[in-house]
Amino acid sequence: YTYEVSPVFLLVEEAVIKKMIEFIGWEEGDGIFNPGGSVSNMYAMNLARYKFCPEIKEKGLSGLPRLVLFASEECHYSMKKAASFLGIGTENVYFVKTDERGKMIPEELEKQVRRARKEGSAPFLVCATAGTTVLGAFDPLEKVASICEEQGLWLHVDASWGGSALISRKHRRLLQGIHRADSVAWNPHKMLLAGMQCCALLVKDNSGLLKKCYSAKAAYLFQQDKFYDVSYDTGDKSIQCSRRPDAFKFWLMWKALGTTGLEERVNRALALARY
Ligand code: PLP
Repeated sequence: YTYEVSPVFLLVEEAVIKKMIEFIGWEEGDGIFNPGGSVSNMYAMNLARYKFCPEIKEKGLSGLPRLVLFASEECHYSMKKAASFLGIGTENVYFVKTDERGKMIPEELEKQVRRARKEGSAPFLVCATAGTTVLGAFDPLEKVASICEEQGLWLHVDASWGGSALISRKHRRLLQGIHRADSVAWNPHKMLLAGMQCCALLVKDNSGLLKKCYSAKAAYLFQQDKFYDVSYDTGDKSIQCSRRPDAFKFWLMWKALGTTGLEERVNRALALARY
C-alpha cells in the first residue's frame, strides 16, 4: 500500500503498467493490479459512474437517475455481478445483440442507447469485450468508440482475455481502436500464461481520477509529509488495503522472455486455435 513498505514492488508495478499503457497506445495513463478481470470490470464500472456523477462518493445512490450501461450479450458474467454489487442492478445492464461471430453489432448499441434515453434513464457506460469468454470474439472497437464519443459515454474494454494480443505485431489489429477506450481490463494470467493472479485495470485518465474515486486518505498510513514523493504511495487508488505484488510475476516473466518471447506465446496460442 505504501512505498516504504514495498518500494521495489511498487516500482515494478509502475514500470509494468507503463509498458501496458504503451501497448494500448495511450500517451499516458494510470492503473492498478488487482485480484482478477472481474474485479477490474467492477473497478471500471464504479470509476465510470464516479466520472458521471462524482457526488456519489459522498452522497451515495439516493437521488440518482436510473443508471444504465451496455455490454454485448457475449460479455463476461462479471458485468452482471458488478452491476449488482455496485447497486446499479442487473436489469440496468442492457445487452446488445451480437453477429454470428459473437461481436457486438454497433447499430444495435445505438438502438439500445436510444431506448435508454427515451425511457428517461441515464446511460453512462459501454463495456466492449476484446476476446469474449466463449467465442473469443473481438468487438469492433473503432465503431463502438465513435458511438461512445458521440453519446458522451465512458468506454471500458474488457480485454481480460484478448488484451495480450496487443503484444503480437501479427494479431494486435484485433484490438484496433483500443487507444480510444477510457479504461481497459487486461489479464496477463490468461493468454500470456503468467501465474494466477495477474490482472490490471488500466485507465487513460492521468489527472488522478482513480485516486479521487477510491481514496479514503487514512491518516495513519498515507501521511502527506513523508521524506519521499508520496505519489509513490499508490495504495489509496485501490479498493484493498494490502495487496499481493502480482505485477512482479509479469515483470519477471517479461524480463526472462523479452517482448519477442511474449509475442511468440500469443502467436502460438492463436495458431493452435486455428489448427
Ligand atoms: N472477462 C473475460 C472476457 C473473461 O473471459 C474472464 C474470465 O474468463 C473474466 C473477465 C474474468 O476474469 P477473472 O477470472 O480474472 O476474474
